[in-house]
Amino acid sequence: MLSTTMSTYRVLATSRPAGSHAAITMAALARARRPAVGVVVPASVAHAVSTRRTMATTVTKPKGRLVIIGSGWAGYKLLRQIDTNQFDVFCVSPRNYFVFTPLLAGSSVGTLEFRAIMEPVRQFNKPMQFLQAHCTNIDFDKRQITCTTNLEDSHDTLTLDYDTLVIAPGASTNTFNVPGVREHALFLKDISDARKIRARVIECFEHASQPHVTHDEIDRLLHFQTVGGGPTGVEFSAELHDFITEDLARLYPQLMPRVRMTLYDVAPRILGAFDAKLAEYATKRFVRSGVQIRTGTQVRNVEKDKIVLNDGEEVPYGLLVWATGITQTELVRGLRGRVAPDPRGAHRIVTDRRLRVLDPQGEPMENVYALGDCATISDYDLPATAQVANQKALYLGKQLNKTDEKAIVPFAYRHLGSMAYVGGWRAVVDMPNDIKPSGYSAWIFWRSSYLSMSVSWRNKCLIPLYWFAAYVFGRDVSRIN
Ligand SMILES: Cc1cc2nc3c(=O)[nH]c(=O)nc-3n(C[C@H](O)[C@H](O)[C@H](O)COP(=O)(O)OP(=O)(O)OC[C@H]3O[C@@H](n4cnc5c(N)ncnc54)[C@H](O)[C@@H]3O)c2cc1C
Repeated sequence: MLSTTMSTYRVLATSRPAGSHAAITMAALARARRPAVGVVVPASVAHAVSTRRTMATTVTKPKGRLVIIGSGWAGYKLLRQIDTNQFDVFCVSPRNYFVFTPLLAGSSVGTLEFRAIMEPVRQFNKPMQFLQAHCTNIDFDKRQITCTTNLEDSHDTLTLDYDTLVIAPGASTNTFNVPGVREHALFLKDISDARKIRARVIECFEHASQPHVTHDEIDRLLHFQTVGGGPTGVEFSAELHDFITEDLARLYPQLMPRVRMTLYDVAPRILGAFDAKLAEYATKRFVRSGVQIRTGTQVRNVEKDKIVLNDGEEVPYGLLVWATGITQTELVRGLRGRVAPDPRGAHRIVTDRRLRVLDPQGEPMENVYALGDCATISDYDLPATAQVANQKALYLGKQLNKTDEKAIVPFAYRHLGSMAYVGGWRAVVDMPNDIKPSGYSAWIFWRSSYLSMSVSWRNKCLIPLYWFAAYVFGRDVSRIN
């Protein structure tokens, strides 16, 4: 526990020349929120330090500091598990909320409002500290992470000591280095992405309905394209199709004959990880409802208003959503050489079955864990899903709370099945046994499962209310910048 009581915050003044770091002790920081001239200390950190000190006077022994990087499925779910009598919990994430990703596609077209799938990290009522920042580096020897605050008016750099570290920054969308994707396509990873998509769809319809717009331009604006035939791309296409046919068709009837939707995948079929019959069901549904499926097709290049396919065909678009799997974040890529190499070549952080990060020699590091999309278990490969991240978080929470090392058991995953919404109140459910429902009953199952899995009671109430409102009054079509 000595390391905790001796902890220091080293705050690097961004305005200072390199090398002139100011090291400030906890006590000094707690004494004065406004530090000496030239040293930048974000108020949140000063507050965190003073709070921590106050707490230290009320417990019988100093608590170890547990730093969790990330507030997604892995980080946030772990945060809710941890016994704060045993740890001073500190969560570092560039966003101060958790996103319930399975319902993100619906929120991108207004089937649900964004608030209904977000959980503010601080609202979770436990004595924890939160730092809105990107973790940019981890020093395993010094047991310290470096962060850059992610606030509109401040990007300060600071370091934070840990006794126990949990690495869970998720992953980024994989562009496969296709030129132009980052510049012109939209992704679907976070609330900000969903907002952009919703605004863009409505913008395309408004633009296409202007009197001076040419026929070619209308065709371009109303061609909605999605790249990636996995569950995210499929669910987004399904939700967008519902939005267009159920709501926009009433408001822009003259444009409906011009609307086109296309879903691309390089694989021979969509929903490649699902049972073949379910994938076929989804394909037939899309084709029947007018969504073109172009499998075995690779996008070579993305330009401002068109994509270029591998055979040279150019396809103009109004909206392009890129949902082609994941790749590692800058933070995880920066750990190469300091952690064990990923045996499957995906550059994830490799852990043992207790989720302890392995060092370059393959030995578990003490008190450093990784989970979620950024991590894999050396001899136990699992998909990058919320289901896996959630189960790992529940497991790790229980293990960290245990005081008896011998009681710790290896992690075992229990697959509960995969689901995807395919539009028009239909879904596919791929259970681990032989039961593979599709259609309306599967949709009821899909909705009720996600409703029951949503985290807070607030959202368990809001989600059905928004679903009901969208059904009765239609989705909101206001375009908010
Ligand atoms: C649209 C969509 C739908 C999905 N649907 C399903 C589904 O139905 N079922 C399912 O099982 N899975 C689903 N997934 C996959 C699932 O969301 C991911 O597997 C899951 O989010 C992984 O959890 P995570 O905590 O590792 O990452 P995330 O949930 O992405 O969280 C990562 C967190 O780390 C933070 N972070 C990032 N970089 C840093 C940094 N440098 N420093 C500090 N913090 C950082 C982020 O802000 C975020 O808070 C879906 C994904 C998407 C995008």
